Formats: sequence, structure tokens, C-alpha cells
Amino acid sequence: MSEVRTRFAPSPTGNLHVGGAHTALFAWLFARHEGGRFVLRIEDTDEVRSTAESLAAIYDGLHWLGIDWDEGPDVGGPHGPYIQSERLDIYEEHIARLIESGRAYRCYCTPEELEERREIMRARGLPPRYDGKCRALTADETRRLDAQGREFCVRFRVDDQGVTIVEDLVRGEVAFENALMGDFVIQKTSGYPTYHLAVVVDDYLMEITHVIRAEEHLPNTQAHLQLMEALGLAPPQFAHLPLILGTDRTKLSKRHGAINLMDYREQGFLPEAMRNFLALIGWSPGTDEEILSLDELIEKFTLEGVSRSPGVFDLEKATWLNGEYLKRADAEYIADLIEPELRAEGLIEEDLGPERRAWLVAVVELMKERTRLLTDFVVWGRYFFTDDYLYDNRARSKWLSREEVPERLELLADRLEGLESWDVDSIEGAIRGLAAELDVGAAKLIHPCRAAVTGQTVGPSLFDLLALVPQKDVVARLRRTAELGRAGELEPLPEGDAAD
Ligand code: GLU
Repeated sequence: MSEVRTRFAPSPTGNLHVGGAHTALFAWLFARHEGGRFVLRIEDTDEVRSTAESLAAIYDGLHWLGIDWDEGPDVGGPHGPYIQSERLDIYEEHIARLIESGRAYRCYCTPEELEERREIMRARGLPPRYDGKCRALTADETRRLDAQGREFCVRFRVDDQGVTIVEDLVRGEVAFENALMGDFVIQKTSGYPTYHLAVVVDDYLMEITHVIRAEEHLPNTQAHLQLMEALGLAPPQFAHLPLILGTDRTKLSKRHGAINLMDYREQGFLPEAMRNFLALIGWSPGTDEEILSLDELIEKFTLEGVSRSPGVFDLEKATWLNGEYLKRADAEYIADLIEPELRAEGLIEEDLGPERRAWLVAVVELMKERTRLLTDFVVWGRYFFTDDYLYDNRARSKWLSREEVPERLELLADRLEGLESWDVDSIEGAIRGLAAELDVGAAKLIHPCRAAVTGQTVGPSLFDLLALVPQKDVVARLRRTAELGRAGELEPLPEGDAAD
């Protein structure tokens, strides 16, 4: 069998959406699994909506997910150019061939005329398709209209008999009635080809063996197969991926949260977790496994594993998965990812230096067991970086507003201030020792201490975390909290003002 070649063919008219990223990932995984090649082709035949920013956003999104391409606009390849606006002469040639063979014709109907006639069809309860008015124009009539300088587009003369059968690798055999299809436009008035024409020509010339794309394109395949037949081009195989729904089972949209892939980076997702998550939407390795490394995804990915029924974009699951990746991730790697954010928040200095960097890695190591998003390090872990953190309502109500707490915090401050060495064992010894002297359980000191020094009631091991905050800062925080408590300023806040 010839080498497998798949492609991702985005239109650069916006950000890379999660749906697009999902399609790209599946086409890429299939090519990698098969040891084939993956092509990136930019379909910018919408001259009005295509932008350079969008192209840059597509590159960014694919790079972030770790999807690379063997051929594409920036890397070149034997079937270039890979940007459709640079292939206009190729389309022109194919359109001319179709006109010559009588399978395409110039249509001079104006948008207003078309709309008027569609309106009539709708009123009659008919599907509003092109009625074929210009099909019958003679060469003389065409010449006359051209002489008048009338604008035209080119339409494909569809075969309206029988059915077109799509043999889909995911959906099986799907039949489309040809009588329902109108003669569609293959070249716009501007001279640009339409999506239908360009996609067919390029998939053929770029030797794409498997067209893997979103389900919404399944009906378009009827037009594509007819065009290929008329041009005498052998069709590729098709695999249409299932729809992506939100958890309420409606089509994924902004209502369900971000649909721009890169917003998930902003929200603190790791690219490898997002990739794993997207791979499991509408595909299963055939086992219950949910955490699959890149190598495992490539090894296990098959089109047989792609489901016919819609997949669900479940943000809860994505977040859980991200937490699992964070737990397993190297602390140095996480530190690299959060450094810019910490810097942007003014929580660390411009140049950390080796000692502070080692400290940051230790903070990450301590926190990563409990975090689900990269942003958690910055938000929950704020107390590692500044004294300017909030006391949340649980900390206030459970501990900080209690009468006996300020005094205990003061005693703790004195005890910790006296420590000569600031390490986990000395800190633990001091706190447990004070608890024994006061004849209270250690928890009676540990919990208020955590509430005072972090503003929260949960977090990593207290002794470990105290050792990562400078001794003088811990002491100052204990004294400050004691004072605020005495002044009655640590009562729970009314809802809305609370930090949690
Ligand atoms: N440019 C089309 C899109 O972005 C590509 C569809 C296809 O893969 O054929 O939807």
C-alpha cells in the first residue's frame, strides 16, 4: 500500500478552536501511527475573512499541542505551495477543464435574482438550491453577456440522478440523493475558487490518502466525489470525526466555556494534558486507560477506535487529567511554565538566580500533588511569594476568629523566632514542643498557624511549607494575624466579599 498521507486544512479566519485542534490531532495521530506524512494546508479562499493573525494563531495552537507537519507553508515540500491563494493558476486550469468538458458553466445570475428565486422555492416548501437557470445558456448568449461586462461565477453541473455513496471509514456507507443537490459554485465572481473545488484539487495533487475531518463536512463529500469523478481524479478515503458536544449534549459553543484552544493555556492547562484529553473525545484505545503518553497515543490510535456517536468536551475531566499530569510532571518543567506568570504578577524578581530558582522548584515540588491547573500555583500558592494574601472565610471562621487563637499565634511566633536553624525538623520540633507545653493537641497550633501564614485551611504539609517561607516572614505573619484577630478584624466576611 502506498504511504499514508493525511492533512489538516484550516481556513485562517479566526483562532484555532478546540474542534479544529481535535481534527488536526486525529489526522496527525493517524499519520504518525501509520508511519505516514502529515500535511498542513492553509485554505484561504475566503479572501475577505482570511487574516495573517489567524494563520499565526493556527501555527501557535498546533505548536503548543506538539503537532508537527512534514509539509506545509513554512516547511515546504514536494507538493507546494501549501497556501491556496498561491495556487490560483492550478484551480483555474481545473475549472477550465470542467468548462471544456461541459461539466461547468458560467452563471450570470446576480445575488438579488438568486435570493428572489430562492424565496419562491422556500415559499413552495422546496429546498432553496440553484435552479439551473444559466445551465442552458448558449455560447452566443454567454458572449453577449460578457460583452455587456456582466459579472459571473462558475457553477458545477451536478449529476442529479441517483445517489452518491460515501464510503466513510468511521460512519460506514452513507448515501446522498443527487436530486437534492443544486449546481454549486466552484469559482467565485472574484476569480477565487470555492472551498469545494480547491479542496478536491489539492487533496488529489497533494496525494492525500485519507481525508480526516469533522462530521460537518460529511454532506460536502457528495459534492467532492462528484467533482473528482468529473475531473477524472481518484478519490481518497474519508473518515468523518464525530461532533463534539458540551456536557449538556448540545453542540460545543462559547456557552460551554472557551472554544479557542489557546485560552486553555491561559487557564493553566498543560499541552500534553490537553492533547490527551482531546484524543479521548470520540476515540478510545479500547481499554479504560485515560492517561496516555504521546507515544502510547501514536501506538494505539486507529480509525476503528473512532466512535460514530458524538464526543463530549467535559471540562471537569480535562481539569482532572491536567492535575494527573501535574502530579507526574517534573518540577523544573512546571517552574519554567509558571515563571512568566509569577513575574507578570510581580511575585518574583526579573532574574531569579540559581538559589531562588532552586527554591521555586522546591515550592512547585511541594504543591504539585494538589494542583489541577498551572494557575493554582500562582493563586493558591500566593503566600509563598508575598505577605499580601487574603484570609479566606474558612480560615476566618474555623480558626482566626477564635478567642484563644491570637495568643497561641504570639507564642508560636516567639518560639519560631528563637529557632537557630530554619528547617523542617526544627520547625516541627518547635511546634510540637510548644503544643506539649501548652498541653493542647498539636492540631490546635498547626491549623491556626496554617490559617495565619497562608490565609487558607488546606495545603501541603505545614512544616514543609513553613520551611520554604523565610523565618522572619513567618514570624511577622503570625504576629500580624494575632493583632488582626485581637482587633476583631478576622471575623468571616459577608458572602461576596469573601476570598473563597
Ligand atoms: N477549510 C476547511 C475547514 O476549515 C477544511 C475542511 C476539510 O478538511 O475538507 O473547515
